[in-house]
Amino acid sequence: MRRSRFMINTQKETPKEAVVISHILMLRTCMIKQLTSGIYSYMPLALRSLRKIETIIREELDAAGCQELLMPMVQPADLWIESDRWSRYDDLLCRFKDRKGHDYCLGPTHEEVVTDIVRQEVRSYKDLPVNFYQIQTKFRDEIRPRFGLMRGREFIMKDAYSFDVDQEASAESYWAMHKAYSNIFARCGLEYRPVEADSGDIGGNFSHEFHVLAGSGEDLILSCNNCEYAANAERCELTEPAAYAPEGDVPAPVEVETPGKKTIEDLSAFLKVSPERCIKTLLFRADDDLVGAVLPGDRELNEVVIKNDRSAVVFEMVTDEATFQKAGLTPGFLGPVGWPEDIDLYVDQRVLAMDNAVAGANRVDVHFTGVVPATHFPKNINVTQLSVARTGDTCPRCDGGTFKEYRGIEVGHIFMLGCKYSEAMKATFLDADGKEQPMVMGCYGIGVGRTMAAAIEQNYDDNGIIWPVQIAPFHVMLLNLDIKDDQVNGAVESIYTGLRAAGVEVLVDDTAARPGPKFKDADLIGLPLQVTVGSRGLKGGQIELKERRTGEKKSIPLASAVDEVVSALKNMGWNTP
Ligand code: ATP
Ligand code: MG
Repeated sequence: MRRSRFMINTQKETPKEAVVISHILMLRTCMIKQLTSGIYSYMPLALRSLRKIETIIREELDAAGCQELLMPMVQPADLWIESDRWSRYDDLLCRFKDRKGHDYCLGPTHEEVVTDIVRQEVRSYKDLPVNFYQIQTKFRDEIRPRFGLMRGREFIMKDAYSFDVDQEASAESYWAMHKAYSNIFARCGLEYRPVEADSGDIGGNFSHEFHVLAGSGEDLILSCNNCEYAANAERCELTEPAAYAPEGDVPAPVEVETPGKKTIEDLSAFLKVSPERCIKTLLFRADDDLVGAVLPGDRELNEVVIKNDRSAVVFEMVTDEATFQKAGLTPGFLGPVGWPEDIDLYVDQRVLAMDNAVAGANRVDVHFTGVVPATHFPKNINVTQLSVARTGDTCPRCDGGTFKEYRGIEVGHIFMLGCKYSEAMKATFLDADGKEQPMVMGCYGIGVGRTMAAAIEQNYDDNGIIWPVQIAPFHVMLLNLDIKDDQVNGAVESIYTGLRAAGVEVLVDDTAARPGPKFKDADLIGLPLQVTVGSRGLKGGQIELKERRTGEKKSIPLASAVDEVVSALKNMGWNTP
């Protein structure tokens, strides 16, 4: 491909609207164009990389026995009413009516549609297992579309759905996909981790997320330094501390004046009590109910635990005075002692291990000291793990391991769904005894655009992108430094032809730009190898080869250009076509 015929209008300036590096670099290299919030066109350069990711996905899923199909993006409400998600799915779902007044949505995911197909086509256990996948555009009306392709409203997803005769067979399909996903991200040249994850709104009982490790990742993940256990912070288990069991009489808590001490930090400094002995109490709205959450002052709350327990669609912290007042609570001075009976209270296991703590007294400028949770808390409380795990916490799955925190970008997510959809939508088959049984399902997603963005988040430097060779839009940038020199043009053409014949994808910079900007652009666009031909070097029969990642340069004879490039690409992990 010749750059003069291929639109890459590069930009020197950092675009104002972009904050993360993948977004900045994709805009600066003309990979994507925003049409409106969270909705992008993929320009030719980006599309080449996306297609490579898709090819890797197709090869691995085909090898795992999946079948590709393509389902409609527009879905009728009836199916979503059957699965009970029409009312449960929040405003992420983009709903609309046709001219006859019938309800539809733009597919954010395709469990309903695929289940509808399978319930019509699969009759007997002999037809199972099946695993269908598609690579298709999804629409989710995200609250805060941001970071370019990382969180769009319209985005390309690979989604797959497995149907099996029983749990055991479903688990087999699940682990086959786990393996296929590991192959896919490894073949994309990415450093990734599969982690145990929360299954969220989609339902089901078991799931793994695949994260690309990158400092800018939105997710906190914890990985044990001693065993295989890794989990999303939303789901990471901690060792359960022994609850404190007081012996004999426990004195009542003591009231102390704490004027204006509304934060754990202020309270801890004022009373000279460490934050882990100050109890933090928070008030949330879970759909139509109020609930309280109680945890040690130095710990972060894992909101997902309570949200899932309530099966809540809306879960948000209460901040308005009026709600506190109606509940009989005082913001800044909340505490479990004397907590209103009509508001459910969730208490972290670590709090019940405390033997002497500080907590709010539910009155302005007053706290209690000498609080013994086991004695002074109300009796009808829900005790569970509410604390988010952090670096240094002990791993509950092995002996002696501790956690380390990483930031990750979720690029894939696999779920064991059980019979949630097949029961609701009557997707059944006849077993060997002729008995009707619900199919057992799994579903599996990969964000194709997000994977490309994550690849950039993991591979860049001050000068631009550094493409992993496997998913680079082209393998080589061939720079012609003197387009007016016939000898140079001849050499460039011979290298171009030779490389193409060897299956190497080449972008020739044949524009009239000066060498300086050409080198800058080559680094910015970040193809794995740069081959430079200029009149000065050519006089001695030499051209230059530069590896983008290391910056290493070497002069090589024109005659061996093709061999040298092919062997350098192979060293980077390129598979010859
Ligand atoms: P997130 O937690 O990031 O909102 P999710 O858990 O809702 O994502 P899934 O339903 O698991 O997403 O979707 C499967 C995959 O699709 C995700 O792992 C991610 O790679 C991709 N994806 C999801 N939402 C978006 C989006 N708004 N923009 C780009 N890719 C997305
Ligand atoms: Mg997910």
